[in-house]
Amino acid sequence: MEDDIPPGSWNVNGKRQWHYQVSESDWNDWRWQFRNRITTVEQLERFVPLSEQEKTQLRLVSQKYPFSITPYYLSLINFDDPHDPVRRQSFADFDEVAMANYGEADPLDERDDSPVPGLVHRYPDRALFVITNICPLLCRHCTRKREWEDGNWVRPKAELDACIDYIRRTKSIRDVIISGGDPLTLSTPRLEEIVRKLRAIDHLEIIRFGTRFPVVLPQRIDDEFCEMLDKYGPIWLNTHFNHPNEVTSEAGRAVRNLLRAGVPVNNQSVLLKGINDSVETQLNLVHALMRIRVRPYYLFHADNVRGTEHLRTSVWKGIEIIEGLRGHTSGLAVPTFVVDVPGGGGKIPLQPNYLLSMTDDELILRNYEGLVFRYRNPRPESASVRGGAASPKEETARPLVEVMTARVQRRRETANKA
Ligand code: SF4
Repeated sequence: MEDDIPPGSWNVNGKRQWHYQVSESDWNDWRWQFRNRITTVEQLERFVPLSEQEKTQLRLVSQKYPFSITPYYLSLINFDDPHDPVRRQSFADFDEVAMANYGEADPLDERDDSPVPGLVHRYPDRALFVITNICPLLCRHCTRKREWEDGNWVRPKAELDACIDYIRRTKSIRDVIISGGDPLTLSTPRLEEIVRKLRAIDHLEIIRFGTRFPVVLPQRIDDEFCEMLDKYGPIWLNTHFNHPNEVTSEAGRAVRNLLRAGVPVNNQSVLLKGINDSVETQLNLVHALMRIRVRPYYLFHADNVRGTEHLRTSVWKGIEIIEGLRGHTSGLAVPTFVVDVPGGGGKIPLQPNYLLSMTDDELILRNYEGLVFRYRNPRPESASVRGGAASPKEETARPLVEVMTARVQRRRETANKA
């Protein structure tokens, strides 16, 4: 960092002032933020006191799994809290190598679903277009952690063109997700070149970006980028907030810029042990997202990735969290909990069991409070046979608790009479 620039100060989580030797215009320039990522122990210890043991462990882990943190994201950490959720997502952890026996390098078998390098074509009408492996933040739970060992790369033009050509020839593809790494690490003119070619394909309806920039470097969502998106819509953007502390005013401004450019923003979070694995944190997260007009879309169970076992929860935890959200906040704020199964099986949604039993005639359902209800199962053919009249069996369903209460009441009355 340039030491001759007067210090600026930023409020961290409303709790402490944190001093950074940088001018405000540099701080708000995404290129400055990107150039000044913290990637070594020596840089890191300028901002956070580290014990000798921590330094040794960080050096050891980062030989296999490097770290990279933007100054902005680092400024969100409360350094008084060793379990700070932003810190845990960004600081290399000794468990990444200590628990290396668990997990697989490529649990989703993405390489087996690649018809050409850079394109994952698993679902008939959608394709994932991987244009780089560079990210501003190296998230410790990353599914593509295996790629970090290859160093930084941006896909060469010839390969990008081959992917675009495959999409052009494959008429079933109507939706392409531009991904990485993080695609927004490329400059806007380079992204525009790709988007322009994609938009020229008649059968391609939707272009989506998968990016964590609104969370880890929201300054990237600048006028130049938004004007480009506006030209080539419909474009959607999926981002990746995991904790309410990440939903800052800067992030809110980035989302507002995207929405003004006609780009809907959805969130895909990952369930992470000790970071967001409680109903309270998830509730705060989805409410914070709704306030900045981001739709909670998916909550992913953390994939079975080597080097991430210490951050994985049991699947039950995800179901328990959805149970704590559904009915307790608006349906719009409840993401779909999914497990992305190995072997290319794709995303499978999981949710608490609200259907207790089901016949052709009726369903026994449980609501969010645990109350049980009968629900008539309509049979169109029976209605037409009777000219639309409902059978006694098909009376409007009454809550089972109501029925049970009435039965108990009747039994009591009978007993009293006897
Ligand atoms: S932004 Fe996505 S691809 Fe990049 S390190 Fe984080 S999880 Fe991985």
